[in-house]
Amino acid sequence: MDLTPEQADRAAGVLLGTAAGDALGAGYEFTHPGPDVEIRMKGGGAFRWAPGEWTDDTAMAVAVARAAAAIGDICSPAGLDAVAAEFVAWWDSGPKDIGNQTRQVLEHRDTGGRAMQMRAHDLPGLKAGNGSLMRTAPVALAYLDDPERCGKAAKLVSSLTHYDMQAMQACKLWTLAIRHAVLHGTYDGLRDALSQVDTGFWEPLLDKAESGGPADFANNGWVVHALQTAWWAITHAETLPAALELAVRAGGDTDTTAAIAGGLLGARWGASAIPAEWLSLLHGYPGLGAEDLTALARRITER
Ligand SMILES: [Mg+2]
Repeated sequence: MDLTPEQADRAAGVLLGTAAGDALGAGYEFTHPGPDVEIRMKGGGAFRWAPGEWTDDTAMAVAVARAAAAIGDICSPAGLDAVAAEFVAWWDSGPKDIGNQTRQVLEHRDTGGRAMQMRAHDLPGLKAGNGSLMRTAPVALAYLDDPERCGKAAKLVSSLTHYDMQAMQACKLWTLAIRHAVLHGTYDGLRDALSQVDTGFWEPLLDKAESGGPADFANNGWVVHALQTAWWAITHAETLPAALELAVRAGGDTDTTAAIAGGLLGARWGASAIPAEWLSLLHGYPGLGAEDLTALARRITER
């Protein structure tokens, strides 16, 4: 698809924003930073990240992006197979952090999309973790010309590990919002997408994110509260860096809420809104840096 320079900047912002939020939050995971704590790209945290190193959130988003760059239509059987294979390749790299639900699926190393999806379907217990929403942003880049398949792909890619109605609808909402933001530079796509999900469930949740605060959605390992935390941060700050800082200050699963926020923030404000110091520090699986994420985004949109 032909993009204007502004759209291309915003397309590049999708993966870079995800990575920036992820790496910023990595040093604060499972904490609740007080007002006296400075939020910096400092690394550390429970998994001893290097400054600027992204975590599983961006690693899995990169996996989705690589499949999209190679195949294009990732909701085709071949496309889902490619995403599944990329997830297994990441698993085989021995990542130091991986969400519980994702681990229970990937440890079987199913290389086909259908087999992986069935594995996720058959998992017992609560299945609405935030682990598919955190990696959904690049799905939008594969479908800038097709909103219908964009929503379908978001649900299917979620279902590979998070076969759950809330997780799949959250991915659909957020991915459609990101797609709209890349094309038009606004957040209008989020509320526009409500008609495509269970509106009665999601609309009050977005309202609460705008009117409430982190204490109202504190269980942000749950996909619903993770989305609300991200939307709260986005709607309570004027700039991309300020919104990512707010997402981290909300506490809890900070790398993931900031990664989720970052995907939409980067789509809205573009790569050019991300501080150069952060871009110079960003790195992670599979041995990539900020320029590689920009190139990967371009490979998807130029297919
Ligand atoms: Mg993480």
